[in-house]
Amino acid sequence: MLFDLRPKSRREEIFDRDEEFRELERSIERYPLTLLLGIRRVGKSSLLRAYLSENPGILIDCRELYAESGHIAREDLVRELQSKGILMQRVLSKFRLKLNLRFLEVEPRGASLREIFRELNEVGEKTGRFIIAFDEAQYLRFYGSRGGKELLALFAHAYDSLPNLRIVLTGSEVGLLHDFLGIGDYGSPLYGRVGGEVYVRPFDGETSKAFLKAGFKEAGVEVSEEDIEKAVSVLDGIPGWLVLFGAKYLEKGSFQEAMNATLEVAKGLIFGELSELEKRSRRYIGILRAIAMGYNRWSLIRDYLELKKMRTPEPRLHELLKNLKKMGWVEEKNGEYSLTDPLVKLALE
Ligand code: ADP
Ligand code: MG
Repeated sequence: MLFDLRPKSRREEIFDRDEEFRELERSIERYPLTLLLGIRRVGKSSLLRAYLSENPGILIDCRELYAESGHIAREDLVRELQSKGILMQRVLSKFRLKLNLRFLEVEPRGASLREIFRELNEVGEKTGRFIIAFDEAQYLRFYGSRGGKELLALFAHAYDSLPNLRIVLTGSEVGLLHDFLGIGDYGSPLYGRVGGEVYVRPFDGETSKAFLKAGFKEAGVEVSEEDIEKAVSVLDGIPGWLVLFGAKYLEKGSFQEAMNATLEVAKGLIFGELSELEKRSRRYIGILRAIAMGYNRWSLIRDYLELKKMRTPEPRLHELLKNLKKMGWVEEKNGEYSLTDPLVKLALE
């Protein structure tokens, strides 16, 4: 069902995205390391799960691991790999492969990630290749006590010496993921190791409309062209919001009720994300609010903050804006800032 709110997990369930799917395939063939990038709710996890439903590999949700305790311990990661390993054995049996995975038997506290990667590389010898995917991998900077350095060293080792392994990292906070990996940074264990990058972008207007139409058609519900256009003009092309609207429309049966409900849920989700952001600095919210109100240039944002009693020294403001770009909240073009997700503006009001 197109209007199913969960991430999709098979290719047939995914609308459009053939190009991105092929790019992902090509990148994984070519590079030991692939990054799958794009803002929240654009469809990265769906694409990745669909790919993994057709190829041997395992998927680790880093946000979930992080959320359990505010950091990621080796033991937690090992345990997660083990539980995914058990599921994977089942998947691989579809490929008529019987595996005897030693790492499933090991006590997590004593397990070595290198050993696990080596073993998965052996699986890859039999299956052609084996994919280890980390969803929302920017959270891996909370791994261990050294900002995730040990993991980067492990990835570098896999890159250089485990030819049948493929590592895929997704990231909603693109700049943070790049910073974490430090591929262009001498100090990083991954320095110089080129990877593939696949971008998933919001749908354009036409595709968004076609998406809604396809979803309603599938559900056997008729919706006027006008309602479809109105929905897209509010929600834009982020598939997660379009799906939510579609599901609400099926539930409520009227445009206005569906839209109200959609915005309600969206605001709730965005509030949660904004309050996380606010914990890091309340100036972030001030800046986003300024941009939402049309104060979209550097000097206007500075003046707005000052007016709101959040006077910010110039270097600090530069840094905050840079971070907001890295986290995917804002975009900048020729010195003009805008919000990447139009619903953030509604949530800020
Ligand atoms: P991300 O991982 O980028 O945050 P998800 O894969 O979780 O995004 O997608 C967000 C929501 O949008 C999910 O409900 C998913 O079902 C839906 N979705 C995203 N892209 C598509 C698509 N191409 N076709 C159908 N549904 C999609
Ligand atoms: Mg996701």
